[in-house]
Amino acid sequence: METADNVTRPTGDSATATTEEWSPELVTLLTSAVEPARAAIVEFSGADTVGDYLGAGYEDPTSATHRFIAHLPGYQGWQWAVVVAAYPGADHATISEVVLVPGPTSLLAPDWVPWDQRIRPGDLSPGDLLAPLSDDPRLVPGYLASGDPQVDEVALEIGLGRRRVMSAWGRSVAAQRWHDGDYGPSAQMAQSTKRVCRDCGFFLPLAGSLGAMFGVCGNELSADGHVVDFQYGCGAHSDTPSPAGSGSPAYDPYDDGVLDVTEKPAEDSVEDS
Ligand code: SF4
Repeated sequence: METADNVTRPTGDSATATTEEWSPELVTLLTSAVEPARAAIVEFSGADTVGDYLGAGYEDPTSATHRFIAHLPGYQGWQWAVVVAAYPGADHATISEVVLVPGPTSLLAPDWVPWDQRIRPGDLSPGDLLAPLSDDPRLVPGYLASGDPQVDEVALEIGLGRRRVMSAWGRSVAAQRWHDGDYGPSAQMAQSTKRVCRDCGFFLPLAGSLGAMFGVCGNELSADGHVVDFQYGCGAHSDTPSPAGSGSPAYDPYDDGVLDVTEKPAEDSVEDS
């Protein structure tokens, strides 16, 4: 099928670009089959469904495709494509196919996405089941070394094994995602403080090689339960100094016990006047 780019090319340009080596008689026969092509659409869909002629493109030395604007509800910008064919020595072209094709401005459905790629982060709801792909590159069988010396060593020591563990590739992708994410050093929260998680008392380092860069925040008033980058940070850092005085560091306390109380001036009485 032709692409949308060549649907509006003038007939003359198309022929010049592609038909120099071909039989001039056959090219002329195919190129001039505009009215038979239009008649085929009228027969197929009705006269009111076909509009202006757009031009022709060539499939091979014996066939051409004529394009017309389509006037169909719901098919704004689509075009009729009529394939005509003729053999060397023929005295007329025959109709091979009448189809609708999208034009450069037609509204199209988004590209189809395989079902196993449609789930996005955040889609999983309570009760949903989401099995990993059988060839998920983030996982390797548990009997293989995970590539993390500390994890492998501990697993062997205590004789435990999981059927699948994260591969080295899976861990590095996760690390990059965490580093670039909401709890990484480029997050707005981290950018607004000089204190970093690495030396915060609420920082609980991860075990294994990921512990070199990441931990979990244990401060319920901050990133509680989230994996945070060493270089992430927030204003609730354990070394954050207490504000001076007893009130807000930004505003003096308001003491309503020191209000000035004044007598309301007596209003002029009617009798005085
Ligand atoms: S309280 Fe703030 S600085 Fe401390 S670990 Fe949590 S996010 Fe990091």
